[in-house]
Amino acid sequence: MPSPLDILHSTFGYSEFRGRQAEVIDRVMAGANTLAVMPTGAGKSLCYQVPALALPGTCVVVSPLIALMHDQLRAAEAVGIRAATLTSVDTNQMETIERFKSGALDLLYVAPERASGGGFRDLLDRAPLALFAIDEAHCVSEWGHDFRPDYRLLRPLLDRFGHVPRLALTATADAHTRDDILAQLGIPDDGLILAGFDRPNIRYAMSPRQGTTKQVSDLVAATPGPGIVYVQSRAGTEKMAEALGAATGRPVRAYHAGLDPAVRARNQSAFVASEDMVMCATIAFGMGIDKPDVRFVAHAGLPKSIEAYYQETGRAGRDGDPSVAHLFWGADDFAKARQRLSEVQEDRLPGERARLAALGGLVETGGCRRAVLLRHFGESPPENCGNCDNCLSPPARTDLTQLAQKLLSAVYRTGQMFGVGHIEAVLTGQANEKVTKAGHDRLSVFGIAEGEEAALIKPVARALLLRDALGQTEHGGLELGPSARAILKGEASFEIAVPPKTVRQKRREQGAANPVGDPLFEALRTCRRDLAAEAGVPPYVIFHDSTLREIAAARPATLGELGRLSGVGARKLDAYGDAFLAVVRQY
Ligand code: ADP
Ligand code: ZN
Repeated sequence: MPSPLDILHSTFGYSEFRGRQAEVIDRVMAGANTLAVMPTGAGKSLCYQVPALALPGTCVVVSPLIALMHDQLRAAEAVGIRAATLTSVDTNQMETIERFKSGALDLLYVAPERASGGGFRDLLDRAPLALFAIDEAHCVSEWGHDFRPDYRLLRPLLDRFGHVPRLALTATADAHTRDDILAQLGIPDDGLILAGFDRPNIRYAMSPRQGTTKQVSDLVAATPGPGIVYVQSRAGTEKMAEALGAATGRPVRAYHAGLDPAVRARNQSAFVASEDMVMCATIAFGMGIDKPDVRFVAHAGLPKSIEAYYQETGRAGRDGDPSVAHLFWGADDFAKARQRLSEVQEDRLPGERARLAALGGLVETGGCRRAVLLRHFGESPPENCGNCDNCLSPPARTDLTQLAQKLLSAVYRTGQMFGVGHIEAVLTGQANEKVTKAGHDRLSVFGIAEGEEAALIKPVARALLLRDALGQTEHGGLELGPSARAILKGEASFEIAVPPKTVRQKRREQGAANPVGDPLFEALRTCRRDLAAEAGVPPYVIFHDSTLREIAAARPATLGELGRLSGVGARKLDAYGDAFLAVVRQY
């Protein structure tokens, strides 16, 4: 029987297990029930695929979405795993059942509603079983964000085949949800293997909005490869797509729940197959998309919570290559979110407030973004990650208590009804028509902002809004908020992080990991594109970018040399080796 490590080498072409994969696989091989909580991109699939190949019998994988199952099937077949799906849309169900019963399958993907039915139980009685893998296991918990009642019905089936080990897998589970999954699926407490939440290859950055379209198109222009831009409204996604297409020349599509289902499906599959498309989408887009080479995720507005932000940005960089998550936020996002709080039921109010405050802390911090994120998930990360905007260009912290007091006074003296532009005009002593007409040039606060202060009025107003020292009226005017008093009375000091002007430049320097423009690399990409089109799969199913980079750097001359590179397993070597060697030979 081949060992797990042999299988990792020969089937997947990888040299070593990553993170806690080896631990999970060892437990499964020893027949112990296990819950693996690992972030996106950590390589969860491998944790059941390797045992499925190493153990006699079939691994039954329970998965909640048909699209996800078909993606997984495609990737498994590409490395030579004998796999099948059993879903309502499959026309070869009889054949699959025969293969299953005769032991000719390593993996069988089924939906929970099928798995929990009586017919399936009878089928399992007559087939050799290696393992149950329960993917997206948070679906079993009402605490999770995606509860699926059918997952609850799996337990009797699992218990009926109590001698078959079970492996539950999920990327997102807080402590509550984890306990619930263990209890619901009959996994002992010491069966939990919890990897950290960190996604080290994702670079986090956040900027206040100032002409969002321009900011996003700068990001798109600086970042080659596929990307997602999350936009709050349906109409906004289409407008953004149009603007980005015009500004950058990149292929762009829109995706939201209001589109015709056929158009939506077409846009999604175009994105999955593409190597450079930008998808402008509402948060309806993403669940069930398993595209590993997404190079950036931009948010044109504030996400709902840190959890949502983590999940949405987590769609970047599953393949481990450098990726960017850039959030563009505005003080009005917070003002709107606060307004929505007034509609929230009493009992949910403290939770919702905390959620918003946590987001505020993340965007406003002058410290490491990753540290704030990871601490939110209960980890104790290092102070600096070296791969977020604030670590790369530390903002200076400045005490602006005096300016904050001036600004709050100006808001108060002008009657708590004017926008920040007017307040700025008053403070900097611009006697424009609106100012003189209102008589604001005669106020004591007229022209009291001095020198450098003028440029800081808008950032200070933003920070005051965030900290609830300013609020926004229905018409966008500024008014004093609950925490204004302490600042005005000098009881609370007011510091903000002033970002240096070099952030954008630094980001451009990062570039992509790919040697874009290198003729050999480009030729390898063309070869991959042709093979993908021929096989009817997305290019990344053939080889990941990292494998193409290795080929370009190592220039293998023989199948033996090619087979030693990461990501080149026996099956792919056999199927594509000659084609790629021919490309290398030409350069
Ligand atoms: P998850 O389901 O946890 O999001 P995947 O199973 O999709 O992650 O794996 C992410 C990527 O990492 C896949 O392309 C996979 O082939 C790759 N991968 C997994 N394990 C390893 C490993 N040990 N070495 C190199 N690459 C790996
Ligand atoms: Zn950092």
